[in-house]
Amino acid sequence: MNGSSKELINDYMSALLEVNKHINLTRIEEGEAARLLHIEDSLSGLSELNDAPQGDYVDLGSGGGFPGVPLALASGRQTLLVDSVKKKMAAVSSILKDLDLTDQISTYDGRIEELSSLKNQCFSVATARALAQLSVLMELASPLLRIHGRLICFKAQVSEEEYSHALKLQSYLGMKLVSDRSFVLSDGMTHRRIIVFEKVKQPGLKLPRRIGLAQKKPL
Ligand code: SAH
Repeated sequence: MNGSSKELINDYMSALLEVNKHINLTRIEEGEAARLLHIEDSLSGLSELNDAPQGDYVDLGSGGGFPGVPLALASGRQTLLVDSVKKKMAAVSSILKDLDLTDQISTYDGRIEELSSLKNQCFSVATARALAQLSVLMELASPLLRIHGRLICFKAQVSEEEYSHALKLQSYLGMKLVSDRSFVLSDGMTHRRIIVFEKVKQPGLKLPRRIGLAQKKPL
């Protein structure tokens, strides 16, 4: 990653913390914690992002822009951030505009299921942090990804049940596990796990299901 992308990531973080005083974008309000839990944590998936095929990148349930904004800036990929909370996307979008980043990073304020009807199989890589259990992430990402596109799941704890359920559903959802890495952030105590699936074929059911079902009635 070059110096100017590091600088831009820091500028984005400072602007976000400033806006966060008025609009609730993140629970993490203090600079050092934000550096660890937003910037470092987001960038911990850079090697997985770089391993995905070339092409557009979508961050699902992006909230305040994580891990999407740091990963976009570090990788140079064309990026779309998606979140259904309009005021969050409006605030993020206005910061991106101030930093002159909107040519590379855009926002979509709507549901992931709506986006997948508009941008079916348009993305080479998707990320999701703190959004849903693995099988739900696979269901939401599958219609957005082109064949060989990758879904990168940023996780803290994953129960054995969540993991085995995802593995059981992978073939049905057209996905296949490609990597699974556990590590600790630089504070020495924050455990993280990054699990990656590749879209290997079209799913065995029509996706997206009706809006809300993926999360309300998980497969
Ligand atoms: N990824 C961010 C935010 C996590 S909170 C981070 O790690 O900091 C989860 C976010 O996902 C919320 O902002 C919520 O509005 C959004 N979200 C949940 N389900 C969604 C859906 N189906 N479509 C779009 N956004 C969704």
